[in-house]
Amino acid sequence: MNQDHKFISGVVPPSGKSEPSWWFAFQGDKLLVHLETDRVGVPSLIDFVELGLPAASQHYLGRLDHRHCYAVELAEGDPPPAGMAFKGLRQVYGLLDEDLFWVAGRAVQIVDWDRTHQFCGRCGIKMKTHPTERAKECPRCDLSHFPRLAPAIIVLVERGHEMLLARARRFPTPMYSTLAGFVEPGETLEEAVLREVKEETGIAVKDVCYFGSQPWPFPHSLMIGFTASYESGEITLHDEENIDARWFSADNLPPLPGKISIARKLIDWFLEKQR
Ligand SMILES: [Zn+2]
Repeated sequence: MNQDHKFISGVVPPSGKSEPSWWFAFQGDKLLVHLETDRVGVPSLIDFVELGLPAASQHYLGRLDHRHCYAVELAEGDPPPAGMAFKGLRQVYGLLDEDLFWVAGRAVQIVDWDRTHQFCGRCGIKMKTHPTERAKECPRCDLSHFPRLAPAIIVLVERGHEMLLARARRFPTPMYSTLAGFVEPGETLEEAVLREVKEETGIAVKDVCYFGSQPWPFPHSLMIGFTASYESGEITLHDEENIDARWFSADNLPPLPGKISIARKLIDWFLEKQR
């Protein structure tokens, strides 16, 4: 589950620029990409100024396979250069190299955090960016801000040869996926699993087991994956989140989420066991 093994995070940029770097530039939450026939690419340039687009801020991210990576915040309204476009991360999911996709997911969160934490939440003055850590500090009252993450659990519930999948209202296509939800303050991850499954489907589960995790930059989640076993109950939709929830076996599969998601990794893990 470790997609970022080739990426080494960093905060302090290199002193000079002589080699091409990857530039993850965002206008709002849209990434600037090169359009290729059936793929998209990220600009690789020695300096971002080569593109002639004014940047509001620039943040060093670290190295991907020894190549430096930067996040850039662009002004609103400027059109993309010829042959390029602004695309939401969900739109480039599957079209962009997977390693670059995950770095873009880091980049959009750093840019968003920087944009939304310009001023101290306690005393209201302009924050200073920490020179060596991914942090902002208030020069008056010493309050620190770090990039925020919202932990969310995602769980595959098994009942013999069946798994519990739901069709969420927010899915644009009729797709079924594993259950997921945000962790509440004061709750353990295991408690969040039990609560979410119960709230969403009325099913009680047991044997909650850690599976793996995945950063999910929409907008700043960390998905923490679990498996669990059915204990009791009948499916009843309790909240507005899902249109449908059902038990599925390997021979009656619905449309499933994309290969890159931890939801699909959980489902594939379950299907692999059925062979
Ligand atoms: Zn302050």
